[in-house]
Amino acid sequence: MAGSSSGKKRVVRRIHKGRVCGCLTVFVIIFILISTLINGCTKKHNLQKQKESSEPSISTSVNDHSSSETETKKSEYIVIVDPGHGGEDVGSANGDRLEKVDNLRYASVVYEELLNREGIKPIITRTSNDTYMNNEERAKFANDAGADLYLALHRNKSDDSTANGLEIWFQQDHTIIDDVFGYKLEQALTKVGVQNNRGVQFGYTNDKQNNFQIIEWTDMTACIIELGFISNDEDNRLFDAHYKDYAKAIADATESLCREGYLDKVKEPQ
Ligand SMILES: [Zn+2]
Repeated sequence: MAGSSSGKKRVVRRIHKGRVCGCLTVFVIIFILISTLINGCTKKHNLQKQKESSEPSISTSVNDHSSSETETKKSEYIVIVDPGHGGEDVGSANGDRLEKVDNLRYASVVYEELLNREGIKPIITRTSNDTYMNNEERAKFANDAGADLYLALHRNKSDDSTANGLEIWFQQDHTIIDDVFGYKLEQALTKVGVQNNRGVQFGYTNDKQNNFQIIEWTDMTACIIELGFISNDEDNRLFDAHYKDYAKAIADATESLCREGYLDKVKEPQ
Protein backbone atom coordinates (compact mmCIF):
# COMPACT_ATOMS: atom_id res chain seq x y z
CA MET A 1 0.00 0.00 0.00
CA ALA A 2 2.75 2.25 0.94
CA GLY A 3 4.48 1.53 -2.43
CA SER A 4 1.37 2.02 -4.54
CA SER A 5 0.29 5.12 -2.62
CA SER A 6 3.74 6.70 -3.10
CA GLY A 7 3.53 5.82 -6.80
CA LYS A 8 0.17 7.60 -6.99
CA LYS A 9 1.70 10.56 -5.23
CA ARG A 10 4.53 10.62 -7.80
CA VAL A 11 1.95 10.54 -10.59
CA VAL A 12 -0.04 13.28 -8.90
CA ARG A 13 3.19 15.28 -8.42
CA ARG A 14 4.09 14.69 -12.09
CA ILE A 15 0.60 15.78 -13.07
CA HIS A 16 0.94 18.77 -10.72
CA LYS A 17 4.41 19.46 -12.07
CA GLY A 18 3.04 19.27 -15.62
CA ARG A 19 0.17 21.61 -14.74
CA VAL A 20 2.50 23.97 -12.93
CA CYS A 21 4.90 23.96 -15.89
CA GLY A 22 2.01 24.52 -18.28
CA CYS A 23 0.64 27.32 -16.13
CA LEU A 24 4.08 28.87 -15.81
CA THR A 25 4.63 28.68 -19.57
CA VAL A 26 1.25 30.29 -20.21
CA PHE A 27 1.99 32.87 -17.54
CA VAL A 28 5.41 33.64 -19.03
CA ILE A 29 3.91 33.92 -22.52
CA ILE A 30 1.15 36.19 -21.22
CA PHE A 31 3.75 38.20 -19.28
CA ILE A 32 5.92 38.57 -22.38
CA LEU A 33 2.92 39.56 -24.45
CA ILE A 34 1.76 42.09 -21.87
CA SER A 35 5.30 43.48 -21.44
CA THR A 36 5.68 43.77 -25.20
CA LEU A 37 2.35 45.55 -25.40
CA ILE A 38 3.18 47.84 -22.48
CA ASN A 39 6.64 48.53 -23.91
CA GLY A 40 5.16 49.33 -27.27
CA CYS A 41 2.60 51.64 -25.72
CA THR A 42 5.19 53.31 -23.53
CA LYS A 43 7.54 53.84 -26.45
CA LYS A 44 4.71 55.25 -28.52
CA HIS A 45 3.65 57.41 -25.61
CA ASN A 46 7.22 58.57 -25.07
CA LEU A 47 7.60 59.36 -28.74
CA GLN A 48 4.33 61.25 -28.62
CA LYS A 49 5.51 63.06 -25.51
CA GLN A 50 8.82 63.88 -27.17
CA LYS A 51 6.97 65.15 -30.19
CA GLU A 52 4.63 67.19 -28.05
CA SER A 53 7.42 68.66 -25.97
CA SER A 54 9.61 69.39 -28.97
CA GLU A 55 6.86 71.03 -30.98
CA PRO A 56 6.51 74.23 -28.92
CA SER A 57 10.27 74.75 -28.72
CA ILE A 58 10.66 74.11 -32.44
CA SER A 59 7.78 76.36 -33.29
CA THR A 60 9.05 78.93 -30.78
CA SER A 61 12.49 78.89 -32.32
CA VAL A 62 10.98 79.02 -35.79
CA ASN A 63 8.85 81.94 -34.68
CA ASP A 64 11.84 83.68 -33.15
CA HIS A 65 13.81 83.06 -36.28
CA SER A 66 11.08 84.13 -38.65
CA SER A 67 10.23 87.21 -36.62
CA SER A 68 13.82 88.36 -36.73
CA GLU A 69 13.94 87.70 -40.45
CA THR A 70 10.56 88.88 -41.60
CA GLU A 71 10.60 92.00 -39.44
CA THR A 72 12.78 94.14 -41.64
CA LYS A 73 15.44 95.16 -39.19
CA LYS A 74 16.87 98.36 -40.54
CA SER A 75 20.59 98.49 -41.09
CA GLU A 76 20.60 102.26 -40.78
CA TYR A 77 18.34 104.71 -38.98
CA ILE A 78 18.08 108.22 -40.33
CA VAL A 79 17.90 110.74 -37.50
CA ILE A 80 17.17 114.39 -38.21
CA VAL A 81 18.93 116.71 -35.78
CA ASP A 82 17.16 120.06 -36.03
CA PRO A 83 18.54 123.03 -34.11
CA GLY A 84 15.47 125.24 -33.74
CA HIS A 85 15.22 128.72 -35.31
CA GLY A 86 18.09 130.35 -37.25
CA GLY A 87 18.75 133.33 -39.48
CA GLU A 88 16.27 136.15 -38.88
CA ASP A 89 14.35 133.89 -36.47
CA VAL A 90 16.50 134.12 -33.35
CA GLY A 91 14.02 132.25 -31.15
CA SER A 92 13.93 133.36 -27.53
CA ALA A 93 16.50 135.72 -26.09
CA ASN A 94 17.96 136.79 -22.79
CA GLY A 95 19.95 139.97 -23.37
CA ASP A 96 22.59 139.10 -25.98
CA ARG A 97 21.99 135.44 -25.55
CA LEU A 98 20.01 134.02 -28.47
CA GLU A 99 18.19 130.72 -28.50
CA LYS A 100 19.20 129.94 -32.11
CA VAL A 101 22.86 130.02 -31.02
CA ASP A 102 22.35 127.82 -27.94
CA ASN A 103 20.31 125.37 -30.03
CA LEU A 104 23.08 125.00 -32.62
CA ARG A 105 25.71 124.64 -29.87
CA TYR A 106 24.17 121.52 -28.42
CA ALA A 107 22.64 120.20 -31.66
CA SER A 108 26.11 120.15 -33.27
CA VAL A 109 27.37 117.90 -30.48
CA VAL A 110 24.31 115.61 -30.76
CA TYR A 111 25.05 115.35 -34.48
CA GLU A 112 28.77 114.63 -33.94
CA GLU A 113 27.93 112.01 -31.30
CA LEU A 114 25.42 110.24 -33.55
CA LEU A 115 27.93 110.18 -36.43
CA ASN A 116 30.00 107.80 -34.30
CA ARG A 117 27.11 105.47 -33.47
CA GLU A 118 26.99 102.42 -35.72
CA GLY A 119 23.82 102.03 -37.77
CA ILE A 120 22.73 105.64 -37.31
CA LYS A 121 22.85 108.24 -40.04
CA PRO A 122 22.29 111.69 -38.56
CA ILE A 123 21.39 114.64 -40.78
CA ILE A 124 21.54 118.16 -39.37
CA THR A 125 19.18 120.79 -40.78
CA ARG A 126 21.54 123.72 -40.36
CA THR A 127 25.18 124.28 -39.45
CA SER A 128 25.13 128.06 -39.46
CA ASN A 129 23.27 130.58 -37.33
CA ASP A 130 22.51 132.53 -40.50
CA THR A 131 20.40 129.77 -42.04
CA TYR A 132 16.67 130.28 -41.87
CA MET A 133 14.09 127.51 -42.35
CA ASN A 134 10.43 127.66 -41.48
CA ASN A 135 8.64 124.71 -39.87
CA GLU A 136 7.08 123.59 -43.15
CA GLU A 137 10.52 123.38 -44.77
CA ARG A 138 11.92 121.49 -41.78
CA ALA A 139 9.11 118.92 -41.86
CA LYS A 140 9.45 118.50 -45.63
CA PHE A 141 13.20 118.09 -45.24
CA ALA A 142 12.68 115.25 -42.72
CA ASN A 143 9.90 113.58 -44.71
CA ASP A 144 11.85 113.74 -47.99
CA ALA A 145 14.88 112.20 -46.26
CA GLY A 146 12.72 109.24 -45.19
CA ALA A 147 13.83 109.87 -41.62
CA ASP A 148 13.10 107.43 -38.80
CA LEU A 149 13.38 109.96 -36.01
CA TYR A 150 13.20 113.72 -35.71
CA LEU A 151 14.80 115.72 -32.90
CA ALA A 152 13.80 119.37 -32.61
CA LEU A 153 16.32 120.93 -30.26
CA HIS A 154 15.27 124.11 -28.46
CA ARG A 155 15.48 126.10 -25.26
CA ASN A 156 12.47 127.33 -23.35
CA LYS A 157 11.42 130.83 -22.28
CA SER A 158 9.09 132.33 -19.72
CA ASP A 159 8.20 135.85 -18.60
CA ASP A 160 8.72 134.45 -15.12
CA SER A 161 12.51 134.34 -14.75
CA THR A 162 12.22 131.76 -11.98
CA ALA A 163 10.63 129.21 -14.34
CA ASN A 164 13.22 126.54 -15.08
CA GLY A 165 13.89 122.96 -16.09
CA LEU A 166 13.60 120.38 -18.81
CA GLU A 167 10.56 119.71 -21.01
CA ILE A 168 10.17 117.04 -23.71
CA TRP A 169 7.19 117.23 -26.08
CA PHE A 170 5.49 114.58 -28.18
CA GLN A 171 2.28 114.48 -30.19
CA GLN A 172 -0.98 114.51 -28.27
CA ASP A 173 -1.96 111.13 -29.77
CA HIS A 174 1.26 109.57 -28.53
CA THR A 175 2.50 106.07 -29.36
CA ILE A 176 4.41 103.52 -27.31
CA ILE A 177 7.54 104.65 -29.19
CA ASP A 178 6.97 108.24 -28.04
CA ASP A 179 6.51 107.02 -24.47
CA VAL A 180 9.64 104.87 -24.50
CA PHE A 181 11.77 107.55 -26.12
CA GLY A 182 10.43 110.21 -23.75
CA TYR A 183 11.34 108.04 -20.79
CA LYS A 184 14.84 107.33 -22.14
CA LEU A 185 15.50 111.04 -22.82
CA GLU A 186 14.19 112.05 -19.42
CA GLN A 187 16.33 109.46 -17.64
CA ALA A 188 19.49 110.32 -19.58
CA LEU A 189 19.15 114.10 -19.25
CA THR A 190 18.20 114.18 -15.57
CA LYS A 191 21.19 111.94 -14.88
CA VAL A 192 23.43 114.72 -16.23
CA GLY A 193 21.55 117.06 -13.89
CA VAL A 194 18.75 119.56 -14.41
CA GLN A 195 17.25 122.08 -11.99
CA ASN A 196 13.79 120.73 -12.51
CA ASN A 197 12.32 117.92 -14.56
CA ARG A 198 9.07 119.26 -15.96
CA GLY A 199 8.72 115.91 -17.67
CA VAL A 200 7.44 114.44 -20.89
CA GLN A 201 4.42 116.32 -22.21
CA PHE A 202 1.98 115.77 -25.02
CA GLY A 203 0.17 118.13 -27.37
CA TYR A 204 0.79 121.87 -27.34
CA THR A 205 1.50 124.37 -24.56
CA ASN A 206 -1.79 125.05 -22.75
CA ASP A 207 -3.67 123.14 -25.44
CA LYS A 208 -3.47 119.38 -25.13
CA GLN A 209 -5.76 118.89 -28.14
CA ASN A 210 -3.22 120.33 -30.58
CA ASN A 211 0.35 119.58 -31.54
CA PHE A 212 3.37 121.70 -32.25
CA GLN A 213 3.49 122.21 -36.03
CA ILE A 214 6.78 120.37 -36.48
CA ILE A 215 5.44 117.29 -34.70
CA GLU A 216 2.17 117.48 -36.61
CA TRP A 217 3.80 117.74 -40.02
CA THR A 218 6.55 115.15 -39.69
CA ASP A 219 5.72 111.56 -40.67
CA MET A 220 8.10 109.86 -38.24
CA THR A 221 8.53 109.76 -34.46
CA ALA A 222 9.23 113.35 -33.53
CA CYS A 223 9.94 115.25 -30.35
CA ILE A 224 10.89 118.69 -29.17
CA ILE A 225 13.46 118.97 -26.42
CA GLU A 226 13.35 122.22 -24.46
CA LEU A 227 16.70 122.10 -22.73
CA GLY A 228 16.22 124.52 -19.84
CA PHE A 229 14.94 128.10 -19.85
CA ILE A 230 17.04 130.76 -21.56
CA SER A 231 15.20 133.20 -19.27
CA ASN A 232 16.62 131.54 -16.16
CA ASP A 233 20.20 132.24 -15.08
CA GLU A 234 20.78 128.93 -13.32
CA ASP A 235 19.47 126.96 -16.33
CA ASN A 236 21.91 128.96 -18.50
CA ARG A 237 24.77 128.19 -16.13
CA LEU A 238 23.90 124.48 -16.25
CA PHE A 239 23.60 124.64 -20.03
CA ASP A 240 27.03 126.25 -20.46
CA ALA A 241 28.65 123.78 -18.06
CA HIS A 242 26.99 120.63 -19.38
CA TYR A 243 25.69 121.12 -22.93
CA LYS A 244 28.10 118.50 -24.26
CA ASP A 245 26.95 116.00 -21.64
CA TYR A 246 23.29 116.79 -22.41
CA ALA A 247 24.05 116.23 -26.09
CA LYS A 248 25.72 112.91 -25.36
CA ALA A 249 22.71 111.89 -23.22
CA ILE A 250 20.36 112.65 -26.14
CA ALA A 251 22.59 110.59 -28.46
CA ASP A 252 22.61 107.71 -25.93
CA ALA A 253 18.80 107.71 -25.67
CA THR A 254 18.51 107.83 -29.47
CA GLU A 255 20.94 104.97 -29.95
CA SER A 256 19.16 102.90 -27.31
CA LEU A 257 15.78 103.42 -29.03
CA CYS A 258 17.28 102.27 -32.35
CA ARG A 259 19.09 99.26 -30.85
CA GLU A 260 15.94 98.00 -29.16
CA GLY A 261 14.11 97.92 -32.49
CA TYR A 262 11.38 100.42 -31.63
CA LEU A 263 11.88 102.33 -34.85
CA ASP A 264 11.34 99.15 -36.90
CA LYS A 265 7.69 99.32 -35.89
CA VAL A 266 7.28 102.90 -37.01
CA LYS A 267 4.37 103.64 -39.32
CA GLU A 268 5.19 104.03 -42.98
CA PRO A 269 5.43 107.62 -44.20
CA GLN A 270 1.94 108.81 -45.14
ZN1 LIG B 1 12.58 127.48 -29.71
